[in-house]
Amino acid sequence: MGLSKMMEHYVALKEQHKDKIIFYRLGDFYEMFFDDAIKASKLLDLTLTGRDCGLPERAPMCGVPFHSAEAYIDKLVQLGEKVAICEQLSEPNGKEMVKRDIVKIVTAGTVTNDEFIDDRSYNFLTSIYSDSKNISVSWCDITTGEFFAKTFSSDDRISELFNHLIKISPAEILANELSFDMLIGSPLVSQGVICKPQLFVESEYDYYSASNSIKEQFKTNNLSLIFGNDKDTAINSSGALISYLKETQKHSISNVNSIKFENQSSCMMLDANAVRNLELLKTNRDQKRYGSLLWVLDKTKTNMGARKLQTYLLSPLNDKGEINHRLDAVEALANNVVTRSTLTEALSSVNDIGRITGKISNNNLAPRDCIALCRSLEILPSIKFNLLGINSELISKICGSIPDFGALVDLLNRGIIDSVKEEKLRERNVFKYIKVGYNPELDELRALCTNSVTVLNELEQREREKTGIKNLKVSYNRVFGYYIEVTNSFKDKIPFDYVRRQTLANAERFITEELKELENKILTAEEKAVALELKLFNEIKEVLTENIRDLQKTADLIADLDILVCFANISKENGYVRPKIMDYNQTLNIVDGRHPVVERSSKNRFVPNDCLLNSSDSRTMIITGPNMAGKSTYMRQVALISIMAHIGCFVPAKLAEIPLIDKIFTRIGASDSLISDQSTFMVEMTETADIIKNATENSLIILDEIGRGTSTFDGLSIAWAVLEFVTEKLRAKTLFATHYHELTEIEEKIDGVKNFKITVKELNGSIIFMRKIMRGRANKSFGIEVAELAGVDKMVTSRAKNILKMLESNDIVVGGASVESLDSTPYS
Ligand code: ADP
Repeated sequence: MGLSKMMEHYVALKEQHKDKIIFYRLGDFYEMFFDDAIKASKLLDLTLTGRDCGLPERAPMCGVPFHSAEAYIDKLVQLGEKVAICEQLSEPNGKEMVKRDIVKIVTAGTVTNDEFIDDRSYNFLTSIYSDSKNISVSWCDITTGEFFAKTFSSDDRISELFNHLIKISPAEILANELSFDMLIGSPLVSQGVICKPQLFVESEYDYYSASNSIKEQFKTNNLSLIFGNDKDTAINSSGALISYLKETQKHSISNVNSIKFENQSSCMMLDANAVRNLELLKTNRDQKRYGSLLWVLDKTKTNMGARKLQTYLLSPLNDKGEINHRLDAVEALANNVVTRSTLTEALSSVNDIGRITGKISNNNLAPRDCIALCRSLEILPSIKFNLLGINSELISKICGSIPDFGALVDLLNRGIIDSVKEEKLRERNVFKYIKVGYNPELDELRALCTNSVTVLNELEQREREKTGIKNLKVSYNRVFGYYIEVTNSFKDKIPFDYVRRQTLANAERFITEELKELENKILTAEEKAVALELKLFNEIKEVLTENIRDLQKTADLIADLDILVCFANISKENGYVRPKIMDYNQTLNIVDGRHPVVERSSKNRFVPNDCLLNSSDSRTMIITGPNMAGKSTYMRQVALISIMAHIGCFVPAKLAEIPLIDKIFTRIGASDSLISDQSTFMVEMTETADIIKNATENSLIILDEIGRGTSTFDGLSIAWAVLEFVTEKLRAKTLFATHYHELTEIEEKIDGVKNFKITVKELNGSIIFMRKIMRGRANKSFGIEVAELAGVDKMVTSRAKNILKMLESNDIVVGGASVESLDSTPYS
């Protein structure tokens, strides 16, 4: 006894898809067998049953109904599994085995179900290729078709890659052997900061096969047009990514039709530390959007705008002209209240054209998506009309580039009904989503389905009149179909063209040509209507497919427009001003700057502060002041204002002159490492090393509390040396907050260093925070006062004051005599 034929087929399939759970279609269910069943029953909480498989023992089995399978598939994918969907490709006929094959593979990076991906964030599938000199990374969101690539070639390429991965946060990573080894050994992977990579077939990374994949997919023969040269290793990573997409999607991925190759120097460099420390996308404490810069800035009205805004924030521009184009647009929009509010409202009605376009090519387009698309495209002419009144080059460019979708809107309006409650696209059912009047044949078929009773009654009436048989009846039974019944009393009136079907005791049943035709029409009408609706829908889909590029372009333009309108809105609402963009190395001058997040989230009035950093006498600000005075807030606000200016947004200040900045570095607080196997001090020093190595005179460096994680003198010495180096050697613009008041002496020793303090007032032994930054040095740390404010018991704080006095009188000699000279503790 061996496996049944079907099971043999299953086992053969499983052999090819060992790493996936196979959803094997059997009638109305997807079944899983053997180990897949045991695993899936646990993960999905399904009952494990068994099925005869030809062997003495039944095969473990569990299953889910086909109509609710998506939710189960997505749950498995979220749990880190891959699912291969095996469909029935022929109708069961009782003779041959039903043909079945894998039609799609769903993985974390290729999920297309709306319910399981965040509308306002990307879901990236990433491919990494590494050789001895370069590391290339390609990443794609198949729900929109956006495809990017980048190559790292510097000595620091590994850390650049990790930075990049942390920033784009891929859902799935494919890797060639070399990069796999590099990734799998990283604590960032073992601790889940970056998802686990999977080794993808090495030959797919091979230059020849990768370049062919790209040429075929992007219909080009000239790879230099995309990558700058036809040997860039981004070709290897991109080609492999395309093969994986083809392997999993099993259909043409027509929305993946262009690559944005990112040039290293085309944007300001923000490493993962800066993104994290400055809380650009989410807060450090609870990883929430609330409290981040994105939370303040993201008042976009479309999902497309929301997704792209994150890209804006992660890659600020470094081209003065481009930034000014954005700022011009924001200014023009900000000054035009009426147009701005009309546009804001119009944009609110634009649906996610990007993801709907993805659905067109990913074969999961539903009629409701067509309606959503139609409604969105319909608004475009009025958006364009409104944009005509805005005097900005960028806006004019956007306006002029939005294609005309008149014909498409007309088609969708004529073809698809406006409210589709339920769609049963994939299975046999009567649909009602093609509009009445769109296709005469469909109208007739539908009329037949719904009006068959009337039509039959009409025929019955006609036959009665024609033959004079008053009780002539048209009826139906399953065996004979439709028939005309005449009782024996009217036998002599039966016309010649009636064909006898059946004889009963007191009546006879006939069929006529006309009735036969009608029968045929009625019985097949439903089936035909279904097939025709599907055909018509597919024809509409064809037209949509032809428009994919235009639709993608529109999604991109609308995203840009949405962000510009959003910037204009928040600038007005939050009282931001247009920053003046200066050249590299010119003076950074902020008057009455505010922290964009703290000013919106704190109940207290925000105290604005100035900042002046130039390339001569004021390159480094040493900032002292007690804990809680506002040092971190101040330094971050300078960095955030600079980033906002570089993305083309207005900034929270009275006046802001921001020079172009190549990189922003941050070393902030004793925050935990992204990974937990390094001590705080080690993290601090690794970050410091990175700054020393990579910062330039065009960089902005934020150093908060450097040298705190070691002994006082150690720390002080390191801080001192770093401060000297960044000021004298790097000549970068630097903000340096410290509790080592000794460091303030550097002002007298090095040109370019200026001391600042954040002021507090002492009142009755306690302190009041003034939040104002001023020239000069703080003479006290007020640590004990702050401890008191925080509620540390008075017994402890007054003892601390005593100890401090004695330490200070011994000129800060820690250990030895000064400690010995302390009186006995008050607690003993
Ligand atoms: P430090 O770094 O000096 O310990 P922080 O920058 O963390 O202090 O500031 C402590 C708190 O003070 C912040 O959480 C914020 O609520 C408030 N704060 C800081 N700067 C200002 C300001 N300029 N205006 C109003 N509140 C401020």
